[in-house]
Amino acid sequence: MNDYDVERMTEVLRRDGFERTEVAEEADMIVVNTCSIREKAENKAASAAGRYQKLKERNPNLLVAIGGCVAQQEGEALLKRIPSADLTFGPDQIPSLGAHYDKLRPQADLGSWPQIAAKANRYKLRLAQTEVIDVEDYQFLDADPRPGDVNVTALVTIQKGCDNFCAYCIVPRTRGREVSRPADQVVREVERFVSLGAREVTLIGQNVNAYHAIGTADGEDFAELLRLVDSVPGLLRLRFTTSHPHYFTHKVADAFRDLKTLQPWLHLPVQAGSTAVLHAMAREYTREAYLEKIAYIRKVCSDISLSTDIIVGYPGETESDFEQTLALLSEVEYDSIYSFSYSRRPGTPAVEMPDDVSAAEKSRRLTALQSLQKQITAKRLQRLVGRSEQVLVEGRSRANPNQICGRTGGNHTVNVEIGEGINIDTLIGTLVPVRIAAAKVHTLVGTLESGAGSRTLA
Ligand code: SAH
Ligand code: SF4
Repeated sequence: MNDYDVERMTEVLRRDGFERTEVAEEADMIVVNTCSIREKAENKAASAAGRYQKLKERNPNLLVAIGGCVAQQEGEALLKRIPSADLTFGPDQIPSLGAHYDKLRPQADLGSWPQIAAKANRYKLRLAQTEVIDVEDYQFLDADPRPGDVNVTALVTIQKGCDNFCAYCIVPRTRGREVSRPADQVVREVERFVSLGAREVTLIGQNVNAYHAIGTADGEDFAELLRLVDSVPGLLRLRFTTSHPHYFTHKVADAFRDLKTLQPWLHLPVQAGSTAVLHAMAREYTREAYLEKIAYIRKVCSDISLSTDIIVGYPGETESDFEQTLALLSEVEYDSIYSFSYSRRPGTPAVEMPDDVSAAEKSRRLTALQSLQKQITAKRLQRLVGRSEQVLVEGRSRANPNQICGRTGGNHTVNVEIGEGINIDTLIGTLVPVRIAAAKVHTLVGTLESGAGSRTLA
């Protein structure tokens, strides 16, 4: 979601005449995007913004803007806390970013001596733009990528905000009510990315299964949207994230069997293995209901790779609750997990509950969870060794430019040794058969099957 927002900010500012630079000293405007999902992320972003004070002393035209969920939540207070910040803006304000620059740094004043006093005065202007746009008025910003900037894989948003109120979660408070993007806009955006070279698209939203811009008034129908996107010519692979288990239907599960581009990978965040903790989190499903969905998806798509999110140390989580999370990991055998220590977020219902698992105990549980998952991931990756997998080539490997890097349908990263005489650039964006030779901790290594890439001999 945050990467997606950064891309849109870049495009909006480009339309207003800005170019992206990697050199902070050259910038007229520095945008710090912030995340408030956990306290650690929040602190990181706020301290990044503080670092730009020195640059402002050297370049008085520099405008420091803080965007994202921390800015949305704190607005004016963040301006007080970070003296170098000129502008704070929430996610709904991205379309007007360029306009804010003009308001704060009117170009007419630059270099015009008689007006310098007015300019100095204006420079004291500081703005907090955190208005949330009403559901009825919300307009999704179309992606506007430049031809050379499009990667093999692209993200396409289908939904903003979230109407769930998981007790620990800040998202509904920072991103607002859920709005589904009209299906024709989604399809057009996928077509645009594909025409510019993307081959894989991931549809993103906080709870994609609750997508309701098409179908009945009761909230239909994500499965139908998948079917529409699946038929975009030239698209090789389709994925989506994130699914809330309560809304993940058999109909969507069936799409893994029925759609040619939908890849066998599902991120289905469980958060906890104990029904009591799930209840306290207001997650709307039990351990059993979750496991039934896992059993169903494995029935229709036996080789699916699964991943999940886990929170340890939620208020009231006992040792035996935690053991149920460990047992669930062993039972489901996820290919990978994201795991977090519970972090209190002001304004969420969970703040009312005592944060009664000590920091030391949270960290012990997190370590135990991660070391169990390490063994499970090793087993899941090992199952692929010796197999031939279709890999979508995304580019050269970071560690070794003579290797290519891509992903399997199950979303495992594979680095592939390339033989003499094969032009790597012509492989990028194509599906190649790869014999998996070995598994590392999180990735695979393989070799190109004989014959693959031969038509691209330089
Ligand atoms: N919409 C997604 C989650 C988005 S947030 C979903 O419902 O699955 C990504 C992950 O951050 C969550 O799945 C959760 O595991 C974690 N998270 C959210 N709030 C948290 C908190 N207060 N403390 C710790 N982890 C949290
Ligand atoms: Fe947060 Fe729950 Fe919405 Fe996910 S579904 S964004 S965890 S409130």
